Amino acid sequence: MQRHIAVLAGDGIGEEVMEQALRVLATIDDLFGHTFSTTKALVGGAAYDTYGTHFPDETKNVCRNADAILFGSVGGPVSEMQLDKWKNCEANSILAIRKAFGFNANFRPVKIYPDLCELSPLKEDVVGRGVDMLFVRELLGDCYFGEHMSGMEGSLRVASDVSRYSEDQIAAVADTAFKAAQARRKKLTSVHKANVLDASKLWRTVVHEVGISYPDVELEDMLVDNCAMQIIKDPSKFDVLVLPNMFGDILSDAAAVLPGSLGLLASASFNKDNFALYEPPGGSAQDIAGKGIANPIAQILCVAMMLRYSFGLSEEASLIEKSVETVLKGGFRTKDIYRGKGSLVGSREMTDQIITHASSVLCKSS
Ligand code: NAD
Repeated sequence: MQRHIAVLAGDGIGEEVMEQALRVLATIDDLFGHTFSTTKALVGGAAYDTYGTHFPDETKNVCRNADAILFGSVGGPVSEMQLDKWKNCEANSILAIRKAFGFNANFRPVKIYPDLCELSPLKEDVVGRGVDMLFVRELLGDCYFGEHMSGMEGSLRVASDVSRYSEDQIAAVADTAFKAAQARRKKLTSVHKANVLDASKLWRTVVHEVGISYPDVELEDMLVDNCAMQIIKDPSKFDVLVLPNMFGDILSDAAAVLPGSLGLLASASFNKDNFALYEPPGGSAQDIAGKGIANPIAQILCVAMMLRYSFGLSEEASLIEKSVETVLKGGFRTKDIYRGKGSLVGSREMTDQIITHASSVLCKSS
């Protein structure tokens, strides 16, 4: 298969972990005989140094000409936020990309590796039941995009943010979520607050209407307050969750702490044409940048997600995911997930282990 990928490493650890992820991509390319090509482009503070803007047209064009975007992370040290280079860097980069490509659905898989059980804030018996959820968050509606108002009512200061959804927005993300559930354990939880909010009532109705076309997927409704409790109390009951923008923002971030490190999570954003951007949900981690110790697994899992969701290469994606699991089982740990047991390794050594395992599995099977 021939595919072209826009590579936007960004700032801080972005460069380092992207280098490792591209080594894994090159290995898959060799092992399976594909032809993946890449074009690197600047984003965030790195782009600001050259173009005076965080998401320049040059980078936009590289993305437009690609089949998918691999994104690292952007942003500067917290102590330098006041500098022009870093001011609004994250918003200018990420929101601008979302807007430019109309990304309407965000995928955030949350999996707790049995061998990293001790890193999770959850109790061992809860983790032991197996935690493997996929959060699908709508990205273009809700109170982030409705009318914002701040003003006075008599002598009182008032403010409001309108939470608005149209049925086509809900149907689009629901359709994406049902398809994702079909490819997993065939269960979808629709999260809302339909006991109170009109936007949620429409959400509930439209998700059920879309569900008629997916009879093989079990659909359940859950109120968001209950869902917040259940993802902590009994996360193993979930497969795919589909959520409006704000509930998805909050609950997917809450769930992101369950595996124990931001360095273990990947995410993806899709538009209605299935064009997608893949990025770790963590930031540029300036506290560890340049030391070669960042966990590359999040960025490597982004490559796996890209192969599965953008290129339909499930076998290749599974090989990467299984290699990550095996290497963790083998006791290899970067600093963020090291608790005194196993082998402490840097970003490159961790990647070497993943590559070696992937190569050996394929050599044995051929
Ligand atoms: P952060 O997510 O960069 O880091 C939080 C903590 O997690 C740090 O201790 C960091 O060392 C650790 N961490 C994150 N990724 C890791 C990895 N792969 N391996 C090991 N440890 C890892 O959040 P922050 O420090 O608050 O923000 C730093 C900068 O990143 C800020 O400028 C912020 O605006 C930006 N940011 C960008 C994004 C993005 O690009 N999507 C997201 C969040 C924050």
